[in-house]
Amino acid sequence: MKTLRLALTLCLLLPMTIFAQPKAITAYNREYKTPTSYSELNQYVQELDRSSELLQTKVIGNSVQNRHIFALCFSDGQFGRNPSKLKVLIFTQQHGNEQSGKEAVLLLAKELLKQENLYLFERLDIALIPQINPDGAEINKRTNSNGVDLNRNHLLLDQPETKALHNFFNIYRFDATVDVHEYSPFGESWQNWGYRKNASVTLGALTNPNINASLRKSTNDDALPWVLQFIKNQGYSSAIYTPGGPPGIDYIRHSTFDINDGRQSFGIQNSYSFIQEGMNGSDTYVDNLSHRSVSQLTGLMGFLNYFHANHNKIVNLVKQSREQLINGYSSAKTSIQANHVTNGSGLQLPVVKFQSQEYDTYDSIVIVNDYRPIVNSIKDVETPYGYLLPKDDSKLMDWIKAHQFITEDAIPQSSVIEAYSIESIGTADFEGDQIAIPHVRTEIVSSVNQEEYIILPISQLKGNMIIMALEPESMLGLSTYKNFMYLIQGTKYPVLRIK
Ligand SMILES: [Zn+2]
Repeated sequence: MKTLRLALTLCLLLPMTIFAQPKAITAYNREYKTPTSYSELNQYVQELDRSSELLQTKVIGNSVQNRHIFALCFSDGQFGRNPSKLKVLIFTQQHGNEQSGKEAVLLLAKELLKQENLYLFERLDIALIPQINPDGAEINKRTNSNGVDLNRNHLLLDQPETKALHNFFNIYRFDATVDVHEYSPFGESWQNWGYRKNASVTLGALTNPNINASLRKSTNDDALPWVLQFIKNQGYSSAIYTPGGPPGIDYIRHSTFDINDGRQSFGIQNSYSFIQEGMNGSDTYVDNLSHRSVSQLTGLMGFLNYFHANHNKIVNLVKQSREQLINGYSSAKTSIQANHVTNGSGLQLPVVKFQSQEYDTYDSIVIVNDYRPIVNSIKDVETPYGYLLPKDDSKLMDWIKAHQFITEDAIPQSSVIEAYSIESIGTADFEGDQIAIPHVRTEIVSSVNQEEYIILPISQLKGNMIIMALEPESMLGLSTYKNFMYLIQGTKYPVLRIK
């Protein structure tokens, strides 16, 4: 069968060649009276680029307000071209009001060029994106200039910043990724409770049940404990990333299983992916920024050292699990609804008094009984061959283009086509939010006019993502977003399933 790959829109990937006058690099010793501005960052990465053969800086796209998004590509050979090397992507500041990730990556860029760290490049090619959301960063705002939370946009992929990131990922198919953020323990509910979390760096791994089980296990059971200990050994406090709480008022879970964020949108393509969340300051701007930046840097050095020490294992795990996806035999069933459940034991949560000015310390350890670290599938579908998407639906066509999905030009002869009828709309609890989920009935369609549809097979890297996006009863589906709610507003769901 002939496969048709959508034209790649990679023209944004331009090497930076027009630089200002060379200038000696001085140490990046900021006093952090303000975070690094876009123009300072621009100048700094250009100076770094000129200083070393190891580094090539690329502009991978532009923001809504036309600021460049830079990627700093480090390699001792041709970047991304040696299959025995582990390709690492670290990206930060999707949320413009989380400044320390950017500062940490700028410090890391400098660290990587030091003689004592060159051993990393024997096994790793490393790309650093210091700032995905330069417009938000400039005014210390969470969203981009369109008011969109970029870290909820990796499934829709309709913003220039997230498109730039995924286009860049698609070129090199990075093996391992780290998405850098900040968490804030300074909310009102914690203030009322009297205590708060205080870990300088928190880490989360892969949780969506459709991600390859060996990858999920390895990121959670092997990598996380190792990097958490590395951070502690360097004198900073670290903990598992646990949203929710305070205890007794709200449950605490391990992370999320959604695939629309910077971690799991790559994880669902069977990448070895993580989120790192440093602790925000009380003013979410420059408060404690030096400590925030250096502790985040320490976490990133921990990941790079883990990737270096385990590079063969990770390269093979990613390669094998991706082959399963591409060949369409990753699993007989695909989870489309899930929830968080307890593992039977409580969480030991270190806390400090809410007003404490101390870092890397705690006053007491609270046992959280309602801790739900396990993601449990509550509804599966039989993994299909693929889907038929109506060509006259421009939103779905734009979505296919944004993701660069592989499409096919004919339906296999023996396949069965099913249509979904929407019988009623119910609600489901997704991590505390009530979302609309239809109840559907399927029936076999005797014939379809193939000319009217795009054929989307699931035998591709994004196969599991496609199923979760298009199944109408999926908790993480396109129809749970405002832009695609129309999909479930009639009695017929416009997408058909191929079995
Ligand atoms: Zn964030």
